[in-house]
Amino acid sequence: MEKKPFVTLEQVQEIVKKYPTPFHLYDEKGIRENARRLNKAFSWNKGYKEYFAVKATPNPYLMKILQEEGIGADCSSLTELMLSDIVGLKQHEIMFSSNVTPDCDYQKAAELGAIINFDDLTHIDHYAKIAPFQETMCCRYNPGGDFTLRNEIMDTPKDAKYGMTKEQMKEAFRKLKAYGVKHFGIHAFLASNTVDNGYYPKLARILFELAVELSQEIGVHIAFINLSGGVGIAYRPDQTPNDIDIIGEGVRQAYEEVLTPAGMDDVAIFTELGRFLLAPYGCLVSKVLHMKHIWKEYAGLDACAANLMRPAIYGAYHHITVLGKENEPCDHMYDVTGGLCENSDKFAVDRMLPEIVPGDYVVIHDTGAHGFSMGYNYNGKLRSAELLLQEDGSVKMIRRAETPEDYFATLDFTPFQK
Ligand SMILES: *Cc1c(COP(=O)(O)O)cnc(C)c1O
Repeated sequence: MEKKPFVTLEQVQEIVKKYPTPFHLYDEKGIRENARRLNKAFSWNKGYKEYFAVKATPNPYLMKILQEEGIGADCSSLTELMLSDIVGLKQHEIMFSSNVTPDCDYQKAAELGAIINFDDLTHIDHYAKIAPFQETMCCRYNPGGDFTLRNEIMDTPKDAKYGMTKEQMKEAFRKLKAYGVKHFGIHAFLASNTVDNGYYPKLARILFELAVELSQEIGVHIAFINLSGGVGIAYRPDQTPNDIDIIGEGVRQAYEEVLTPAGMDDVAIFTELGRFLLAPYGCLVSKVLHMKHIWKEYAGLDACAANLMRPAIYGAYHHITVLGKENEPCDHMYDVTGGLCENSDKFAVDRMLPEIVPGDYVVIHDTGAHGFSMGYNYNGKLRSAELLLQEDGSVKMIRRAETPEDYFATLDFTPFQK
């Protein structure tokens, strides 16, 4: 499928008069439409709720848009909880799915009345000493082994640090019941960035079967199943994107085959999507600073891996469009790089693109999740601004670019001043 940016060269030329490149740009209209598609796909389940994985794009303006679409927040740290609180998310609009959790994070989650998801059995007795149990608590499951779909290994839960074994889940539920917990949730995240409509339905079936077993054996009320994240997007033009309607319908079938016959048809479905919800509706806009010809051809950008780290650390593909040259033939091969003193700082290697000249603007696609948020300050590079393309076509700055003062803010220079 052709990947088209949601901005044009003319729009970017207008934007850069006020906000210089590089910047991450988000598409409000695309975000709202996608949020509505997601909610509709699970509307068969009356308790359904999506908790946006805040780590993917921790920006309060975007979280507010999602809140307006009925979406809560999935947090895993103190600051993510604080952001959710600031945005006005309350109590069960927040899920706290952490691991290796510091006491102050648990205490904040309890204070906000968030739903706490225990990653490990040993946390429960510890938690009892530091914060009060609520009526509803959740535990995270790790079935071990490989996660396969149609005989293909999609991920390896046995190597993942998250969650508890089945025996530990039983022990955890017994303990929580003894601590007075009334309603229970089950959570699992077994494969990441799946581009396969079968992932959620298969995961759902595993968790539904576990729910029936736990409910019968321990005698507890299962209030919700949290399918967590992992529904991916088509980063490459040759991939077929997930169809959220088919995914929602697949989960519904598993529900009717496993939970309904067990008399458990009041179980709510929760999701914690980050990538699926936002990735396609953000992009990194950057300007070509220098072209270089040595053993290969290089196009050097004013953005670098500090603004988008996925290609450097995972070798991840991000599609690139040279603005204004959308209809020109891709008959030039480039490595598209940033300026870090680190050879992995390449947004693309051996990529066929139209001829590039200094001053061209490029759009790096699908940075709306796990883009800006993974950024860092290596080489003293500064984090970019985040801009929102609003539904009326105007652009709002939702985070300013860092300045050198921000970079130096944690240093005390007074001993060096004469
Ligand atoms: C990262 C994460 C998510 C979101 O993952 P995506 O790949 O963005 O869908 C959801 N839940 C938990 C607990 C996570 O750690």
